[in-house]
Amino acid sequence: MAIVQQKAQCVLWFAEFESVVTVQHNFRWQYPRQRIPEQRAICCFHETGPVQKNQSPGRPRTSEEKVELLRLSCVRSPKNLELGIPKTTMQNVLHKRLRLYAYKIQLRHEIKSENRPNACNQSIPGMLNVHLIPHSHDDVGYRKTVDQYYYGVVTKNTPKGGVQYIIDTVTQELAKDPKKRFVQVETEFLWKWWQEENDEMRQLYRQLVDAGQIEIIGGGVVMNDEADTHYQTTIDQFSLGFRYSASPLLDEMLGECGRPRIGWQIDPFGHSKETASIMAQMGFDALFFARLDYEDKQNRIESKTMEMVWQANKNLGLSSDLFTSVLYNHYSFPTGFCNDISCSDDPFIDDKNSPDYNVDEKVTKFLDFIDDVAAAYSTDNILITMGQDFTYQSAHMNYKNMDKLIKYVNLLQKNNSNINVFYSTPSCYVKAIHDANQTWTTKSDDFFPYGNDPHSYWTGYFTSRPTNKRYERIGNNFLQVCKQLSVLSRVSDKSLLKKLSYLGNAMAILQHHDAITGTDTQDVADDYMRMLSVGIDKCEDIPTTAYNKMLSQESSETKTNLTMRSCLLLNISQCDISESSSEFLVTIYNPLARPTSHYVRLPVNGNNYVVTDYNGAQVPSQMIPVPQSVLDIPYRKSVATQELVFRAADIPPLGLQSYKVSLSENNSQGGSVTSNNHTISNGDVTVELDADLGTVKLISMNGIDLPLTQSIMYYNAFHGNDAEAANISSGAYIFRPTSEGVQKINDKVNVTVYKGNLIEEIHQVFNEWVSQVIRVYKQEKHIEFDWMVGPIPVDDGTGKEVISRFTTKLDSKGIFYTDANGREMQKRQRNYRPTWTWNISEPVAGNYYPTTTRILIKDEAKGLQFAILNDRSQGGSSLQDGEIELMVHRRVLKIQHYNEALNETAYGAGVIARGRHIVMVGNSSAQERLLVQRTLLAPWVFLTPGSGNPVQVKGLTNSLPENVHLLTLEPWEKGSILIRVEHIMENGEDPVMSQNITVDLKEILAPLAVKSFYETTIDGKMALQSMERLEWRTADNSRPHIHHNINNFSISLSPMQIRTFIVAVNHIAPSPTTAPSSGCSNIIRDNCLVLISLYISLKFNFAV
Ligand SMILES: [Zn+2]
Repeated sequence: MAIVQQKAQCVLWFAEFESVVTVQHNFRWQYPRQRIPEQRAICCFHETGPVQKNQSPGRPRTSEEKVELLRLSCVRSPKNLELGIPKTTMQNVLHKRLRLYAYKIQLRHEIKSENRPNACNQSIPGMLNVHLIPHSHDDVGYRKTVDQYYYGVVTKNTPKGGVQYIIDTVTQELAKDPKKRFVQVETEFLWKWWQEENDEMRQLYRQLVDAGQIEIIGGGVVMNDEADTHYQTTIDQFSLGFRYSASPLLDEMLGECGRPRIGWQIDPFGHSKETASIMAQMGFDALFFARLDYEDKQNRIESKTMEMVWQANKNLGLSSDLFTSVLYNHYSFPTGFCNDISCSDDPFIDDKNSPDYNVDEKVTKFLDFIDDVAAAYSTDNILITMGQDFTYQSAHMNYKNMDKLIKYVNLLQKNNSNINVFYSTPSCYVKAIHDANQTWTTKSDDFFPYGNDPHSYWTGYFTSRPTNKRYERIGNNFLQVCKQLSVLSRVSDKSLLKKLSYLGNAMAILQHHDAITGTDTQDVADDYMRMLSVGIDKCEDIPTTAYNKMLSQESSETKTNLTMRSCLLLNISQCDISESSSEFLVTIYNPLARPTSHYVRLPVNGNNYVVTDYNGAQVPSQMIPVPQSVLDIPYRKSVATQELVFRAADIPPLGLQSYKVSLSENNSQGGSVTSNNHTISNGDVTVELDADLGTVKLISMNGIDLPLTQSIMYYNAFHGNDAEAANISSGAYIFRPTSEGVQKINDKVNVTVYKGNLIEEIHQVFNEWVSQVIRVYKQEKHIEFDWMVGPIPVDDGTGKEVISRFTTKLDSKGIFYTDANGREMQKRQRNYRPTWTWNISEPVAGNYYPTTTRILIKDEAKGLQFAILNDRSQGGSSLQDGEIELMVHRRVLKIQHYNEALNETAYGAGVIARGRHIVMVGNSSAQERLLVQRTLLAPWVFLTPGSGNPVQVKGLTNSLPENVHLLTLEPWEKGSILIRVEHIMENGEDPVMSQNITVDLKEILAPLAVKSFYETTIDGKMALQSMERLEWRTADNSRPHIHHNINNFSISLSPMQIRTFIVAVNHIAPSPTTAPSSGCSNIIRDNCLVLISLYISLKFNFAV
C-alpha cells in the first residue's frame, strides 16, 4: 500500500492530469517497486473545490478551542478521529487562523460492504426482532400542489401538512439520539429543503445519513406510478433523483452514503415488472410495497409468502430479479399507535398513579398485533411501519412515544418475553432476513390489477385525465429532443442547461403516483400541467440555439440566426405561424438513431402551397379538410379549415431536415376529393366500410384480409353510497361499470371519405360528442384511428366510461398481451390470475390491465397477431375472444376517497380528448416495436415564419441497427455525456431482430469524438463494476445473468438489455471521465480529516 507521500503525489498528479491512467503511469515510473494503486483508489480522490470557498466579512466566530483542536489534529494522525466540527468551521480555521492554503482534492477511505451492520441496531438471535421503521409518506402533489405540501399551506379539505417541518424536526430528534432512525424517500422535497438550509444543518443531515440514522430509500424525485409510466421516464426520474441524493457535484449533498439500495413503493396502485427490473439494475437489494390484490394478500399471509424473489424480466434472468416484501399493515402505524400530531391515539401514560395509566393495555395491544404480523412472515424478523401520510411534523411526539413502546415491550424480556423491538431501517431489516439464509419462493407475473375488495378494482386510473396523460408523453418527447440537441450542438451555456433541467424535473414530478395517474384534485392537476408547460416553453430555446450552432459547424458559410418554434396546438389543428404566413420554414428533428420518415400536417389558410426540400426539389403535398368536429370546438382560435400534408422522407438519425413552404397561386397541387367509395387504401393497406352503417368491416395489410368491426361505446359508471364494498362507486382510481353491457352511441355513423395522392381519410361522426378519422398514409403499413371524444354528457346524472372496441374473428383463446411500461409484453388471461384462484366479482373492471404503448391478441393456429398501439397510457382488455378494447375517456360524478369527482371541465364544458390508435396486423412484433418508437419519440416539427433555405443536418453519421435503440443521450457531469442503448426485442420475438448484437460506441458517436467511457448502473450514477447486490436463494437459481461484454469500444446487447455509459467526448470540456468509487453502505465515513492531514503533510514536506 502506498505511503502518505505517495498518496499525496497521486493527488497532485490527479489534479494536474485528471486521468487515472496517467497517474498509474507516473506512479510506475516514480515508484518502480511499489504496487500501483487501483483505479478505484485513485478515483476516491474526489475534486471538491477549494477549502476556502468565499471570503466572509468580519472576524470568524470560531472559538480558540476549536482552532487548537484542529491544529492538534493536524500534527498527529487524524485517522478515526471524530472532531464534531462542521466543515465550514474547519475551512475557516484552516485558512484564516492556521494560514493554510486551499486544497483541491479530497481523499476518502475505501468503504467496504461488510461495514454495513455497524449502522444497524442489533437484532438478537433467537428472539422475534421487531424492526420499527419511522417514515412519512409525502406525496409530491395530490390534494395540494408540490409547493403547498412542502411549505404546509392549508387548503380546502386538507390539514396543515408541511414537509419542510418534517425534515426539520426529524433531523433534530435524530441528532439527539444515535439509536433513532428515519427513512427519506422523495428527493424532490429533500432537495428543496437542502437548498434552503444553512451549512450546519446540511452537515448535520449528512452526518445522520453517514451514520445510517437517516436512510435514503426509493430516492427518485418521486415515488413513481407503475401503470401509466413509460420506462424511459421512470429511469429518468430515478436518475435525476440520484443526482440529487448521491451526486458529489451538487455541493456534496449526501455523498455516496446517500445512494439508495431499497425500493419503497408503498402507495402506488399495483406494481409492474419493469419498475422492479429497473430497480434491480440500479443495484437495489429489495423492494417494499403495500398495495396488492386483497385475495392475493390473504393467500400470502396464510402461506407465509409475503416475501419472495420477483423475477422481473424473463429476458434478463437473474440480473433483474428483486427480493420483494409486502408490508403487512398497509404502510400505516399499528392501530392505536399513531402518536403523531395529526392523530388522536392516546400517548403512553406511564405514571402508575394516574387514573389514565395505560402502559399494560398498550403493550398487550402491540403484542397482539406483533403476533398477527409474525404469523405471516417466515423469519424471526418483522418490519413494522411507523408512519402515515405527512406524519412527523412534530417528530418529538412520535419518537417520545416510540421510545416508551420500545422500553416497555423490551422490559418484558426480563419475564422471558422473546420480543425485541428497536428502531431500524429497511436496509437493516433486509440484511437481517438475508442472514436467515433461507430459500424463497419466486413470482414471475406482475401485481396488476390491484383489487382492494370484491368491487374495487383500481383500473380506472389507467385512463383518468386522458389529456394530461397525452401531454406528459409530449413532454417526454420534447425533453429527449432537447437533451439530444444539447449534446449534439455542444451546448455549454449554463442558463440553457438550467432550462433543460427544469423540464427534466417537471417530467420527473409528473411520474408521481397521483400525477400521471390522474388521481389528484383538479387544482393540483392544473399545477402539474403548468409546470410541464413552463418546462416545454423554457426548453424551446435549446433547439434554436442547437440548430444555428450545428449549421455553422457544418459550414462556415451557412451562418444562420433562425428562431424555431413548436406548434403545441396541432391536436386541434391550430398553429399561428402556418396559418398566418405565406412563406415559412418547417424544420423536423428526428430523435431516433436511425433514419425515419414523417408525415407533417399543418393547418393553413391558403388553398395551394409549394413545399421544397433541401435539394431544391418540390415535394408532393396534399390538402385535407380539418374534421368538422374539430372545427366545431368552441375554444379553437383558428380559421383554418384545411391541413397541408407532406412526407418528410429519410430524416437522418438525430438529424434536422427543413422544408420551405410557400403559398402558391397556381392550381397544380393535389388536394383531396370527396369520394362516394367506402374504401380507403394506399396500395398495401386497405380499410373497407360497411356502406350502410358507416363503420369498418374489413382491413387488409401484409397480405392478410381481416374482417374487423370497430366502434366507440361507453359503460355507465356505477354510483353508490360507498359505505361498503358492494356500494363502491366508479371514480378516479376505481373503474366500476353498472353492468357488463356497453351502451352503443349510434348504430349508424355519418361518413365522409377523402382521397388524395398522399393520404386517404374516412371522417366518421357518431354523434355530437364522438367522432373519428380513419386514415392510411402512402408508404405506411398501418392504419390510424384518430378518435375524438367529449364533452361527455352527464346531464342524465350518470358518469360514462368511453371505450374504443375492435372486434375480429381471431381465435385468441382468452389470452391477450399488454406491455409493462412500454417494454416486455405481459401475457394476460381473461378471468384468471396466475398465482391464485380468482373469485370474479367484477368481470369487466377486474379484467382491465394497464396498456402503456401496446395491446395485442394472437391467433396461434393462423400465425397472426392483431395489435393496437396507443399514444398515451390507457386501460385495456380483451373481454371476448378476438376482441380488444381500450378506454379512451371517462367522466364520473361520485366523489371518491375524500377527493373530488373525476369530472374534468375546460372552458366551461366537459373536457374533449383526442388521440390515436394505430392498428397493425401481421405475424411478428418487430414492426410494432419500431412503430412504438416512432410514436413515442416522434420527429419534432418546428416552424419559422418567413423565407429561408431548407437544409439537412446530420446528427449521427452512422445509424444504429433497427433492433438497437438510443434510449438516452444527455449532457452529464464535468462535460461528459450519458448514453443509454437498448436491445428493443425480446427473446424469440423475431427470428432476425431478436439476435444478440454488437455495436461500436465510437462509431455511433463519431461526430462527438469519443475519448473514453465506463459503464454504469442504469441510473448513470454508479460504476457497474462497483454494483454489489445481495443474492437470494431460490429453487430456481440456475437462470443466467446477462453479460456486459465490452471489447475496446464495441459493446454487445442481448434481448431487452439496456446498457448505460458515461462517455468522455472531445468537444464538450477537457475533463476526463472516471468511474465513481464504490457505493457506501450507510456506515460511518471520515469527515474530511484525512484530506486535511494530507494537505498539511504536503505543506510541511511530510514533516508531521
Ligand atoms: Zn401517495
